Amino acid sequence: MSDTTILDETDRTTGRDALRKNIQAAIALAGAVRSTLGPKGLDKLLVDDEGRSMVTNDGITVLESAKVEHPIAHMLIASSAAQDQSVRDGTTTTVLLASEWLQNAWHLVVQGVHPATIARGFRMAESFCKEHLDELSFEATKNDIEAATMTSLSGKLHQKIQSIISACAVEAADAVVMESNGSVVADPTRVKVITRSGPAVEDSKLITGLALPKKRAHVEMPSSLPPGNILLVDGGLELRSLSTDVHLNVTSTSALKSFQDAEQQRLLDQVKMLVDLEIKLLACREGIDDSMHAYLADAGIKAFRRVAKSDLELLARGCGARLVPTIHQAKQADVGVFISSRCERWGDVDHWILETDEGGATFVASGSTDAVVGEVERCFADALGVACRLKEHPKLIPGGGATYIALARRLRRYAETVPGREQLAIEAFADGLESIPRILAENAGMDPIDTLLQIVSIQTKDEDDTIGLNAITRQPENMRTSRVVEPVRVLEQAICGANEATIAILRIDDVLWAKQEIGVPDDVQANLDGTAPDRR
Ligand code: ADP
Ligand code: MG
Repeated sequence: MSDTTILDETDRTTGRDALRKNIQAAIALAGAVRSTLGPKGLDKLLVDDEGRSMVTNDGITVLESAKVEHPIAHMLIASSAAQDQSVRDGTTTTVLLASEWLQNAWHLVVQGVHPATIARGFRMAESFCKEHLDELSFEATKNDIEAATMTSLSGKLHQKIQSIISACAVEAADAVVMESNGSVVADPTRVKVITRSGPAVEDSKLITGLALPKKRAHVEMPSSLPPGNILLVDGGLELRSLSTDVHLNVTSTSALKSFQDAEQQRLLDQVKMLVDLEIKLLACREGIDDSMHAYLADAGIKAFRRVAKSDLELLARGCGARLVPTIHQAKQADVGVFISSRCERWGDVDHWILETDEGGATFVASGSTDAVVGEVERCFADALGVACRLKEHPKLIPGGGATYIALARRLRRYAETVPGREQLAIEAFADGLESIPRILAENAGMDPIDTLLQIVSIQTKDEDDTIGLNAITRQPENMRTSRVVEPVRVLEQAICGANEATIAILRIDDVLWAKQEIGVPDDVQANLDGTAPDRR
């Protein structure tokens, strides 16, 4: 059978043509985020198909909101999303690097270098970069960690709120850092974020402990509590509803009364169990019957109902408690402990604040509108991710393109020692790395080529790898003293992720597109054919 019959239902592009088209798609995608890079990057206004709008400077938010159909663009978005997942920063950089490497690879393909040779050269360059990142990095102090979170927020919101978010992120990372199996772990998911639209952005703050927008079940329950026991229930303290459709034939009022009394007694037994377990705080995913409020208040128990399961799980981690399906099943081992519990009213919303041994913190994201609050929330998540990663792996590199230029300089010297055509690929890889400082300069309104040449010459003359572009002062500066620093992991991951995507795209030499037909639903088709059953 010939190809034409097998592939009847597909459109096909092969060889160089396929590569050219794929690279064009990557360049188009990078073009969408290029202008957002760095502190002088501009924002994008995104409007979805329901007319909702969002203003953001975050690469991955732009990419994930775009309705992109090209499969190559999807591959790049996926590698940027992976970057976001693992290090929370460097998402724009990943896409820009991949697109630049692909463009440079294309020039080599046109000169007759095989894509497989280029891929080999790129792999050699990537390994070289990984080996040399260590000598370019330095140990982070607490002060440096704050500088790194500030750098991760560059270009987002304004300077004052950047410092507030960055200070909150570092403090939150401190609150969740702990030792586990001999290594330091800082889990950002242990920080709760709550949002308030209305107050100014500057009112965003960090609170020690977990805060939930919840009101205690009854005002007579204690508002503040000293250290005590807590029980977390995946169910509730309610009268049972009949699960099957049965009819109860009640023959006398006394039968009905005894039926209700038995149910009431069942709830009272559960309150007694709470007293026996010395519970002072109760949080349930379901409801708490009104008739039990007084009994709970009398026993000095403060209760919260309708607490979301995700919040119960967060509380369980903070208090060392185990979530139980019902109060009946609760045992001593399921009970957790807390240091203090209090209620506070912010604006017109009641909040429950719980402090525990295991730390934990809550960030209150404020802003005048939902859109601003959303951006504050995203910025905090990024800064927190960076701060947590730095607690676990406290290594930094100079930012502002300094490290990209330092790596490119070393790569060019290394390329000279490689005899085959891979040498050309390694040089192309080095050129690609330099695209980051070039774009940073471009976005700061400077000449990209002159700026790059100036930094390269200062780095070489002074043998100083920390010289990069400070986009704020628009001068080449020592990035460590200018406090523009980034986690080494962000750069390492961006290089690996972008190179992986680049090589995957280079290796494609055949694109088969299924021919898409407009589908017609069966019932519509039946109507058109006149075979639909008569409904009259
Ligand atoms: P990404 O999504 O890749 O993190 P950003 O828009 O956050 O993109 O920009 C990050 C880049 O901006 C990094 O290379 C960082 O070194 C650089 N950068 C941050 N602050 C400055 C500054 N003051 N001057 C120059 N470059 C900076
Ligand atoms: Mg960033």
